[in-house]
Amino acid sequence: MEVIPMSEGEQLGAETTSTESVRAETLLEVDGLKKYFTQDSGLFAGVSIDTDEFPPVSLGQDYVKAVDGVNFEIRRGETLGLVGESGCGKSTLGRTILRLLEPTDGSIYFKGEDLATLSGESLRKKRSEIQMIFQDPQSSLDPRMTIGQIVEEPMRAHDMLDREGREARAKMLLEKVGLDPHHYNRHPHAFSGGQRQRVNLARALSVEPDFVVCDEPVSALDVSVQAQVLNVMEDLQEEFGLTYLFIAHDLSVIRHISDRVAVMYLGNVVELADKEELFENPQHPYTKALLESIPVPDPRDRGARGVLEGEVPSPVDPPSGCRFRTRCPDLIAPDAYELGGGEWSHTRAFMRAVKRRTFEAMTAAEIREEFFGGDLPHGEAGKIVEEAIDHLATDRNGDDADDEESRWDEATDLLLESFAEQSICAHERPEYEIEPVYGTERHYAACHLYR
Ligand code: SF4
Repeated sequence: MEVIPMSEGEQLGAETTSTESVRAETLLEVDGLKKYFTQDSGLFAGVSIDTDEFPPVSLGQDYVKAVDGVNFEIRRGETLGLVGESGCGKSTLGRTILRLLEPTDGSIYFKGEDLATLSGESLRKKRSEIQMIFQDPQSSLDPRMTIGQIVEEPMRAHDMLDREGREARAKMLLEKVGLDPHHYNRHPHAFSGGQRQRVNLARALSVEPDFVVCDEPVSALDVSVQAQVLNVMEDLQEEFGLTYLFIAHDLSVIRHISDRVAVMYLGNVVELADKEELFENPQHPYTKALLESIPVPDPRDRGARGVLEGEVPSPVDPPSGCRFRTRCPDLIAPDAYELGGGEWSHTRAFMRAVKRRTFEAMTAAEIREEFFGGDLPHGEAGKIVEEAIDHLATDRNGDDADDEESRWDEATDLLLESFAEQSICAHERPEYEIEPVYGTERHYAACHLYR
């Protein structure tokens, strides 16, 4: 399990000013949080049939490991950005923190109290201190209600103030989010997308929360409107002392709003650092690939951009060790072979090309030239590569009875089992602290390159 040491000294850094000390109070701490979903339901859930096995019917449950051992803390008054490709578990994490989803394991300490253990009235009371803003401002507002009623709804649910008090507070909040309080009796359809998200903000703030989970709150808005809503959120944070967990897939939005940034991949946090440190000195290969994928305004620069290759693996059966290893361009050489740097980078590129079948079959000499400049790695590694080439080459010596499909499969299995599966990346879950270049905040990277 991913365990990040978070002593007080590490959280604050070596030197802190008094202002930083005030902000450094931990408001929320997530420790070993997991959220698994069962994959299917119904009468035959968990029953699998394999006619090659005896007995052919077995019982067992597959779990989608949406969030799998996540640790981080959020300090009072800060914005922690949470970024990653869609499907990486960001929204599930946000909803689990709020207990909209039941955690499978782990703790969610909010002001020192573990939300994961609360239920009933005590959980309901805590919920007023934590609010959530969703992506789609259209569907999250009831079209039959006026915006006044919408903003007052959470106050009514928590028995806050009397009718006049709620109306006065709703109007005050509408003004704070940049809407005309005279529009209190209008319905959501009379407002634009950006204005509806402002109504959502006012509603979330009506019960005086300390902490707001913002799940892609500006993704559905035009870019020009996004900046306006983000600026309103920053103003509200300053005025009401709010703390945000801000979930987004868009790195430019994350860069705008965050103080620190956590990068998520396949249910794990793979890098966490101060915003400037993360954007200027990214260390995890996944973070680097995400940053290189940001669209650039000048099309002539496009050739220099990296591309995230391959599919995100299934969260039902995620890769062992480092979750990113099946797509990582920096996979570490197995210790067993004593490969030189050039030998390993050639072997790794060949293995990836075979796995993804990115080249047409050619002669053995042509494959050697194309991927190794004519010289195979020395020793045992070279013999394995030679054998893989022999499966693929058009002038191979192997059994001609094998069809092309199975020869590619054999070469792929041989290379993956001999190299990828022998790497430390496949055996140990990485967790390392890195010396930051920008500032003194801790910089965490889940990558064995820093061992
Ligand atoms: S641990 Fe290995 S596979 Fe994972 S990101 Fe680092 S180098 Fe890549």
